[in-house]
Amino acid sequence: MQPLTCVPQLMSQESFRLADPVQPEVPTSVRTPRRALSASSLNAYATCERKWYFRYVCNVVDDPGSSAASYGTAFHEALEAFHKVYMRPNPAEETAMRRDLAAQLDRVFADPDAKFSHAVERELQRRRAIRTAERYIDWLLAEARLHPFTVVGCEAHAPLAIDGYDFTGYIDRIDRDDTTGDVTIYDYKTGSIAESAKEYLTDVRAGTEFQLPFYYYARSQSGEKVVRLSLIPLKDSLTPVRPVAIEITPLVEKDLDKARTRMGKLAATLIEGSQDVYRVATDPDACTYCAYTLSCRNRPVPADEKFGR
Ligand code: SF4
Repeated sequence: MQPLTCVPQLMSQESFRLADPVQPEVPTSVRTPRRALSASSLNAYATCERKWYFRYVCNVVDDPGSSAASYGTAFHEALEAFHKVYMRPNPAEETAMRRDLAAQLDRVFADPDAKFSHAVERELQRRRAIRTAERYIDWLLAEARLHPFTVVGCEAHAPLAIDGYDFTGYIDRIDRDDTTGDVTIYDYKTGSIAESAKEYLTDVRAGTEFQLPFYYYARSQSGEKVVRLSLIPLKDSLTPVRPVAIEITPLVEKDLDKARTRMGKLAATLIEGSQDVYRVATDPDACTYCAYTLSCRNRPVPADEKFGR
């Protein structure tokens, strides 16, 4: 009988050949695909060039989404549907308004396209949104009592060309004052926002924030008198809704103008040029909700993570 053996059979020298040594790839610069840019994409670029590269150039790394993002999308959808019905918020309709906004939130949070990690998370976020919506209606009615207005746009398309480069975006809400005809542009914020107009304008001047300047020029170009830009916080269900309002003054216009100039320059750099290196963020806070952390080997490491290693 043949004895069992654990020694593998050696292959003859002729049966295989070593592969040729791999040559290192020659680095090449990357060009941005030519398409309309958005103010939020430039915000992303200003925060972290690498994030921008992953999202807008590679377009291959799948964003798994997050509970915070789903909460934001659902809230925006509900408010859009709500204001298409309630275009002239009227304190006499308060009960119906509260009921209908809650119903819109129930609808969007029940949609399977709203991705939450599990049913409990979905329910908690739905309840949070309904409580926040109560605060929103409080604020809306107070505004309507002070100076009646009409909602003239929800998720309004806002195209704008700057220095020959196309930009595009969608404005959450546009109101027209019923007495003066003046326009206010609103951006709903379900995440963290600047705490004051001063803080927001500091970011505008620093060239890291473009959203409201972009909306301002997109609407002003058609002859509308935009007198106010406003961020509406919809994150915290326990505190009253107090928008961060930026009144348009000659001084503020100078800041907005700087942002527009910077947008044109950035568009030229991104679209006409090519880039060898997309630098990572320097502040680890930028990575907290980034969808690309697993693909990003050079990201800044927070101090507590460094300590744990
Ligand atoms: S993980 Fe951080 S450094 Fe990397 S792409 Fe995201 S934000 Fe940028």
